[in-house]
Amino acid sequence: LKSPYHGGHLEVIVGPMFSGKSEELIRRVTRAVIARQRVQVFKPAMDDRYHVSAVASHAGRQVQAVAVRGAADIRAHLTGEGALLQGPGETPLPDLVGIDEVQFLGEDVVPLALDLAAAGVRVILAGLDLDFRAEPFGCMPDLLARAESVEKLTAICTVCGAPATRSQRLIGGEPARLSDPVVLVGAQESYEARCRVHHELRR
Ligand code: ADP
Repeated sequence: LKSPYHGGHLEVIVGPMFSGKSEELIRRVTRAVIARQRVQVFKPAMDDRYHVSAVASHAGRQVQAVAVRGAADIRAHLTGEGALLQGPGETPLPDLVGIDEVQFLGEDVVPLALDLAAAGVRVILAGLDLDFRAEPFGCMPDLLARAESVEKLTAICTVCGAPATRSQRLIGGEPARLSDPVVLVGAQESYEARCRVHHELRR
């Protein structure tokens, strides 16, 4: 066994935007592929389709991934008709399941991750620990508490160069408002990595 754990377990990778979460997920997945392990990566679909896609880092590295609408799609993909890894008879689960941008999946990703770990799968979950207000993001606190391993990454603060732990949302160049929705649709928004001191919210 190539893992320090006896079997299935959860590894969580968190940090703000640009902290290298996708890079780290891709690094771990690539090593498993080199070791000839069976790997399946998922990410939330930003549109309404369930399709083959890729996890790409801001620096451009990528691995193949399946875009899903939620945890139910992941279950269906791993065990159902369309499973990539389907063999004769029973569908074997992969050795490693990776999920990027896991904060966008609903609370039912938690029982899914636990079921996979219980079935012996190494589960790697990468996502934002904090939303743009610097509040805990969705399912992340639950996953962080249950994980065997947690890696908290930092980016570089765009204002001062210190380690950045927050994602600054800008709307038309101005800090977003506290009352803005966590997921904005169709707005002129952009994000920057910021430290605690330089993370701003308009009242
Ligand atoms: P995440 O998945 O956490 O958003 P990625 O793995 O996609 O991060 O991207 C990390 C890459 O983003 C870095 O290697 C670097 O090339 C780039 N980058 C852009 N802005 C910053 C920043 N402010 N701090 C650190 N890295 C940055």
